[in-house]
Amino acid sequence: MRIFEKCKFTKPCPICKTKKTGDAILIGVRGTEEGNIMQAELFHIECIELTYHKEQGLLVQKVE
Ligand SMILES: [Zn+2]
Repeated sequence: MRIFEKCKFTKPCPICKTKKTGDAILIGVRGTEEGNIMQAELFHIECIELTYHKEQGLLVQKVE
């Protein structure tokens, strides 16, 4: 996963809803795939708290 250091946000981070500058990652939005292209949104790394849903085979981030 590529990390964007000291990233300036043009849209709010979906988790904290702020545009504060910080290290970030791009995460693809499910359902937006077109060929090899997928829409993605920037998230602050410090906002991410994943949980592993072993039974479903998913890593999950609660956003709201
Ligand atoms: Zn955030």
